[in-house]
Amino acid sequence: MSIVVSALKEEQPHEKRVAIDPDVTKRLIKAGMKVLIEKGAGIASYYNDDSYQKAGAEVVDRQTALSQANVVAVINLPSDETLNALKPGQVLLGLLSSLIKPEKMQQLADKKVSALSFELLPRTISRAQTMDVLSSQSSVAGYKAALVASDAYSKYFPMMITAAGTVKPAKVLVLGTGVAGLQAIGTAKRLGAIISGYDVRPASKGEVESLGATFLTSSVSNGAGSGGYARALTPEETAAQQKELAGFIADNDVIITTAQVPGHKPPLMVTQESVDNAKPGTVFVDLAASELGGNVAGSKPDETVTTDNQVMIIGGNNLASELSNSASQLYAKNVQSVINAMVDKDGNLAIDPKDDVFSGLTATTNGEIINARLREALKLDPLPTDEPVKDEKTDQSAESKGAE
Ligand code: NAD
Repeated sequence: MSIVVSALKEEQPHEKRVAIDPDVTKRLIKAGMKVLIEKGAGIASYYNDDSYQKAGAEVVDRQTALSQANVVAVINLPSDETLNALKPGQVLLGLLSSLIKPEKMQQLADKKVSALSFELLPRTISRAQTMDVLSSQSSVAGYKAALVASDAYSKYFPMMITAAGTVKPAKVLVLGTGVAGLQAIGTAKRLGAIISGYDVRPASKGEVESLGATFLTSSVSNGAGSGGYARALTPEETAAQQKELAGFIADNDVIITTAQVPGHKPPLMVTQESVDNAKPGTVFVDLAASELGGNVAGSKPDETVTTDNQVMIIGGNNLASELSNSASQLYAKNVQSVINAMVDKDGNLAIDPKDDVFSGLTATTNGEIINARLREALKLDPLPTDEPVKDEKTDQSAESKGAE
């Protein structure tokens, strides 16, 4: 019996992406799987139901996509109603906000649903790079951030020399120069702006400079943490950083912020005072805007705020979704990569919690919380490292029975 993979229509009002596109549909079918797509799931990404049918998928209602699949692929953590409809043995794969909402992962563990959460992927393992949704989506978001900023800005990005006079180029500052920040720098550079970049990871200096931007060295001594990420700064370091950034912010026209620290709320880099002191017409695009706060004081997720001093703060948390077609195309490839890695030599679906990629990516399988960071967040004892957890493989026939 072949493995059944489904993609659901996303429930969040601002979400335009879909977890599987027609190209990956074809690839999964070629690999012997069956693909179910919830009716209308790809519409906001410009993949209509016909394109999925042509690729070999069955377009079905939500209930069928949920009940008949071995693997349910999503972009975001689904609603409680959807989570409750999942059955033991099914695999849920997506950006499940597992570290922000660990209790939902426990809920899935209690139901013996396996949850694979892209935020937990150990990204530095080379085998995991094709599964790296954070990189693929950050890259899209960084590109879009530069375009959104240039659109909102009331002047040219490039220098313009015309018969009617010369217009100076825009000065763009990118705070946080990881995957999204570097893409924002590259895009703003192509639009002709003068760019500077700032990060607490010294390793990013060379990357920023290779794109033709100036690197602003931080006073924070080595802010690099593990896995290529930044570490959380101390309150003293944060205060020093906010102070050193204040002058740079006042001197720039557009500020794109992308700073994240895994498992922590985004660092506040632009204080209220810096917003108040920004020039009229300054545009902030905060990719880290969230319900917990963002990098810019006063930023709101999915909203644009214009302040009394005529400064625009764009909550850019969902910008990958604004490039829905390309973002979905890349996301679907990441999904396919995970599914391929889950198929064992007998063609069955299997999650090996001892595998170095799946021990990270898997929030829960066989009723157990697997990921060490998540166990810590849920105040569970660490799993013994030398003993296998209950059952090393998810038996696909058991899943199929459970899923029916
Ligand atoms: P991220 O989204 O967690 O953070 C974005 C950027 O914000 C990072 O560059 C981080 O250093 C920076 N930042 C965080 N707090 C900050 C602060 N207080 N002040 C200034 N900057 C701050 O990270 P990301 O972009 O997903 O990845 C960061 C880096 O990790 C990448 O540039 C890369 O070097 C590495 N990485 C490696 C792999 C791999 O080996 N395959 C995969 C993904 C990422």
